[in-house]
Amino acid sequence: MKIIAIGRNYAAHAKELENPVPENPVIFLKPDTALLKDNRDFYIPAFSNDVHYEIEIVIRICKEGKHVQPKFASTYYDAIGLGIDFTARDIQTQHKQKGLPWELAKAFDQSAPISTLYPKEKYADLHDINFSLYKNQALVQEGNTKDMLFSFEAIITFVSKYITLRKGDLIYTGTPSGVGSIAIGDHLEGYIADTKLLDFHIK
Ligand code: MG
Repeated sequence: MKIIAIGRNYAAHAKELENPVPENPVIFLKPDTALLKDNRDFYIPAFSNDVHYEIEIVIRICKEGKHVQPKFASTYYDAIGLGIDFTARDIQTQHKQKGLPWELAKAFDQSAPISTLYPKEKYADLHDINFSLYKNQALVQEGNTKDMLFSFEAIITFVSKYITLRKGDLIYTGTPSGVGSIAIGDHLEGYIADTKLLDFHIK
């Protein structure tokens, strides 16, 4: 499986990092070795002094898709959960300045914590899902899928023009504003509405 991640999918987050609001989805990949499951501890890697949390809604692809048409896109994902797109912001900033790819900042081991995924039928309106992240019991990020620049369906349609989607692939659909640094000892808790799905510690 592969992890596809969307950058700058919430206008307020694009603005906070002084990036333009994109005309097309900005995408990057993480390998399967980036997954961190079961609320295991996250260990800050030695190569970064500024790892940021980015809370994101994650969708799971349920069948192979190539050139998916917009009207069928909703049938290509079957489950929803919560993930964090950990980012070595110091490395990303250096690479952006040089016009280099982001992989070292985004694709490192355990950079993609993932919650339990639930059937999408659990949610009354997929385009109105509230989600939030707390660091040490303080609210740091809050988002709603209605504020995405590119919907789940638009992402599937766009990505599948270039990259075949396979059953089991995950799409991290972008983070709202409020991203920030983590430090050893921090406690992160992520919610969809009032349900806590992520609950782990930084080591
Ligand atoms: Mg992200």
